[in-house]
Amino acid sequence: MDEERNVQPQRGQPVRSRRKKKYKILWDRVIVALVALIAVIVGIVMLISALVGAIKGALKKDDSSSAVKVQAPVVSSQQEVPESVVQPDDGTLFTVVIDAGHGGEDVGSTDFDGVRYEKEDCLRVAKLVEKHLKDMNVKVIMTRSEDVYVTLDDRCKIANESNAVVFVSLHRNYFDEEAQGVEVWVHNEKPETDTALAQNILDGLKGVGITQDRGVNFGYRGNEYVNYQVNRETNMPSCLVELGFMQDEQDNKLFDDNCDAYAKAIADAIYKTVKERELVKNLP
Ligand SMILES: [Zn+2]
Repeated sequence: MDEERNVQPQRGQPVRSRRKKKYKILWDRVIVALVALIAVIVGIVMLISALVGAIKGALKKDDSSSAVKVQAPVVSSQQEVPESVVQPDDGTLFTVVIDAGHGGEDVGSTDFDGVRYEKEDCLRVAKLVEKHLKDMNVKVIMTRSEDVYVTLDDRCKIANESNAVVFVSLHRNYFDEEAQGVEVWVHNEKPETDTALAQNILDGLKGVGITQDRGVNFGYRGNEYVNYQVNRETNMPSCLVELGFMQDEQDNKLFDDNCDAYAKAIADAIYKTVKERELVKNLP
């Protein structure tokens, strides 16, 4: 450094000193500018971190609210619906939605020969369940009463706009290999009332006669982390009943021989659940 200083004065002195002066002023300004810049940067960083914090907070809120949304059907499933909401004004005791699976272009499963359609079995038993519930002075809303295609969204919409206390979806099963028996599906969060409804239905069907009790199951076949849409998006206690396997002759025969008895058992189980769980109070 000293060497440089010693050398520098040998150059043109006035220029040198002017330059020196200039540099000094510039450095002062640069320092001031730097301090200002640092202050601005610190300010911006603080602002950004505050914003990020706020956004994170907002996202967290969103997460929790969406989680609540996802769980809402389950929570409401377990909650008692106010009497004023569930009591129909036509003198019936309460409302139930019966969902005959598939329909129209969606035939569902078939038997081995492809001549027997799940959609027809579903509608057949659903109409009988409707009849038995009406005999008990229960109002029944059917998601379909004829051979028409109804989307899953619409089925859930019908249910959620119905003031129904219970939703039951009726299906028949299919498997490539040997399989037989009845199983009932409930939301994977295992809501108590839904589970009780499913178990009551299964017990009723067992009482009529089934090849095998495949139990109350949670979630979706092959994936317990997802749910059947009709269980996921209906706001009331719900379950999906698989009334035997389409490819199993014994199950088909039992279904044909006992269709009305199965329907009566399902209707009785629904009524029993609504009464036991006090979804509607003071039921006869
Ligand atoms: Zn089905």
